[in-house]
Amino acid sequence: MSTPGPALVVHGGAGHVARDRMEPGGAERVREGLRAALARGLALLEAGAPALDAVCEAVAELEARPEFNAGRGAVLARDGSVQLSASVMRGADRAAGAVAHVCDLLHPVRAARAVLADGRAVLLVGEAASALGRAAGVPPASPDELIIPRRRADLERALRDGGAELDLDADHGTVGAVACDARGRLAAATSTGGLTGQLPGRVGDSPLIGAGTWADDGSVAVSATGTGEVFIRAAFAHQVDALLRHAGLDLASACDRALEEVTRLGGRGGCVAVTPAGDIALPFTTRGMYRGWARAGEARHVALFAGDPG
Ligand code: ASP
Repeated sequence: MSTPGPALVVHGGAGHVARDRMEPGGAERVREGLRAALARGLALLEAGAPALDAVCEAVAELEARPEFNAGRGAVLARDGSVQLSASVMRGADRAAGAVAHVCDLLHPVRAARAVLADGRAVLLVGEAASALGRAAGVPPASPDELIIPRRRADLERALRDGGAELDLDADHGTVGAVACDARGRLAAATSTGGLTGQLPGRVGDSPLIGAGTWADDGSVAVSATGTGEVFIRAAFAHQVDALLRHAGLDLASACDRALEEVTRLGGRGGCVAVTPAGDIALPFTTRGMYRGWARAGEARHVALFAGDPG
């Protein structure tokens, strides 16, 4: 998969949901969401917009859709609250912005972008993160707008089963995007509700630069999904960059090697990645990863499970 030019790759989370365990119509709704995210990001790339715009808008599209674990429809923490996280990174100058423990925004990715634009911090948490987002025009959302009944049921089940550990059946749905724009600039964005039944205050890899999200125009843009604690301990997204840069691996091998390290440490998941040459990779070690990929002016592909042709 190597052709220079604008490219966009999105994911809707890695997990073990089996084809036959999805709700009726669920697979089609996930595909629709992935297609809509691709369409929104590609329209920007085709109009010459920077990669950062494309990844933020692609992720915002998925945050608004309850099929995914981000924004509306995010999973619930042990205390029944929604605790959202997101991050964005621009490859040109490694500028980055992230928010964690946000309870009242539909689009945490836009708050993360506002943190990047503000420039004084890389990661803001809680009410301060929401306030900066609101000041930048990100609309507030009430718990009723963010929480859907299915997530309450997921939490009840997780607590009954002694949950709080990563349940890749229930937690499928973290979202992310990477893009290479017409000028070869890269960007990455990731957004999540975390894990069902997680400890209140837990922060996973998604808002952490170098773990769940990374972009450098000299190397690669990466957005990850999976067992957050292990992706943090593996410094996953930066590890893909390091393997490309210092070990001379190609993109597919670098991603595979970084995922092998995740496996060795006891985690599972996947990522989407793109290089300035337009090479893309979408590997995962779970039964499936919701994913979509496209180049400007070419056919768009979406796939859910391992072996899906796309
Ligand atoms: N990585 C996310 C977290 O640990 C979960 C996921 O990707 O599904 O919060």
